[in-house]
Amino acid sequence: MSTVYAITNQKGGVGKTTTAVNVCACVARFGHDTLLVDVDPQANATVGLGVSRLHAPGLYEVLSGDVSMAQATVSTSVPGLSLVPSGAGLAGASIELPRRFGFERVLKDALASVSDDYRYIVLDCPPSLGPLTVNALVAASRVIVPVQSEYFALEGLASLLETLGLIQRELNPSLTIAGMLLTMHDGRTHLGRDVESEVRKHFPELVFDTVIPRNVRVGEAPSHGLPVVEHDPACAGATAYSDLARELVER
Ligand code: ADP
Ligand code: MG
Repeated sequence: MSTVYAITNQKGGVGKTTTAVNVCACVARFGHDTLLVDVDPQANATVGLGVSRLHAPGLYEVLSGDVSMAQATVSTSVPGLSLVPSGAGLAGASIELPRRFGFERVLKDALASVSDDYRYIVLDCPPSLGPLTVNALVAASRVIVPVQSEYFALEGLASLLETLGLIQRELNPSLTIAGMLLTMHDGRTHLGRDVESEVRKHFPELVFDTVIPRNVRVGEAPSHGLPVVEHDPACAGATAYSDLARELVER
């Protein structure tokens, strides 16, 4: 049985994909077979792992019922890390899925067939609370919410937590919040330190000890089709993601 994590936040650009790619690469390096499923039509996780955004079959073909999850899985340059690419038609799934009865469970049902093959399955969500994200939150048992360390950090978090509560009550009682993760943090500035203490004050139990620093190596790694933990394993961003992955596997 795998543990399924969804990485979600309806805001774009907060570090969801970066977190998904690097947490997956780290836990795979620790020796746990891991599957990253790219649930975002923008396919940034797919490209960040060196696979073409036009690669098919991908998640779109799985959700359409054309292929199984295993048939859409590709290996990556990281030993132990497999990927289900987004698939060229995934944007259309947001329109097609809701027309189907029980559409919220399509991803969960498709993942059941590979659950015994991986210790961890990680779902990289799109920046919206649409049908694809709902599918991810129904399939997951734990949620990681990346929060960009900036002035408006808290904005939108209350409504996100309400949505997670609604999904928990109506669709997935086993859903829990693994934690909020401060990303792109600059601890040298007053603003950075203020944002961190503000977020920790509002959500005392929920924020991961590990904070991800803003780091140029993290930003440039996707252009090489590599997780930063492969691109430059010694940089501050890679070390932080490795610490986070350790927090997750030790729980
Ligand atoms: P999301 O998936 O939430 O839209 P991304 O993970 O794609 O966010 O990150 C948005 C942008 O910020 C990307 O260009 C990414 O490379 C960059 N980025 C993410 N985390 C960091 C970091 N710790 N340091 C520097 N740049 C980062
Ligand atoms: Mg993304």
